[in-house]
Amino acid sequence: MELVETHAHLADLSDIPLVIGRAKAAGVKAIIAVAVNLETCRRNLGLADEYPGYVIPALGIHPTEWFNEDVGTTMAFIREHAGSCGAVGEIGLDYWRKEVRKSRDLLERQKSIYVELLQVARENDLAASIHSRGAWRDALTLAEEHGPDRAVFHWYSGPADLLPELLDHGYYISCTPALEYSRELREAVTRAPLERILVETDSPVYVRSLARPSEPADVAITLMHLAEIKGLPPEDVAEATTRNAETLFSL
Ligand SMILES: [Zn+2]
Repeated sequence: MELVETHAHLADLSDIPLVIGRAKAAGVKAIIAVAVNLETCRRNLGLADEYPGYVIPALGIHPTEWFNEDVGTTMAFIREHAGSCGAVGEIGLDYWRKEVRKSRDLLERQKSIYVELLQVARENDLAASIHSRGAWRDALTLAEEHGPDRAVFHWYSGPADLLPELLDHGYYISCTPALEYSRELREAVTRAPLERILVETDSPVYVRSLARPSEPADVAITLMHLAEIKGLPPEDVAEATTRNAETLFSL
């Protein structure tokens, strides 16, 4: 089985050579490495040089990671290197973050950063990897207005009634090992057609059932849960989700 890990914070993992080795042993043929700030943007480009064709670098500013950043510098870096990356991400909105719950100005700033990064993706014909915690409606509307045609709403746990519009627009959703326990995520992958679903880990997010932080090799666990929910052989689900990832990210 060949899998594509479509959302990993690879720069946050230690022992990357070992992590990559285990990913390859688990059948992972490529990793989309998402960035959250200037440092991880730089790291991702370095990792892509070290593992050409295997680590696909995404560049982005995460909606909760810019409060202590010089956003202008990071934005300029992303624009400068957009031609060398495989996607724009992780970008988006996060209305649960306490700073934006308390301040209208910070919420508007979060939105404007998201919109600018959507435009960078559109201008450079890159897919966007979108985080939208507590902000599913706004994240979708802004992506439709300003973003590229190609995007994934990562770890989709938003309302089920938003899914038809998201799918009609040609966007994808992705799922993680949280399929084991997340009612919202299970419902989303039950409703969405397999042709629009990607697998990922969001590693190193801690996984309860593993009692440890995740890593890209664990995308095989995501796949097993997805195959079980879809009632299909894992091989078929692997083939479909890998094809989806190749289409979305032009691999
Ligand atoms: Zn993430």
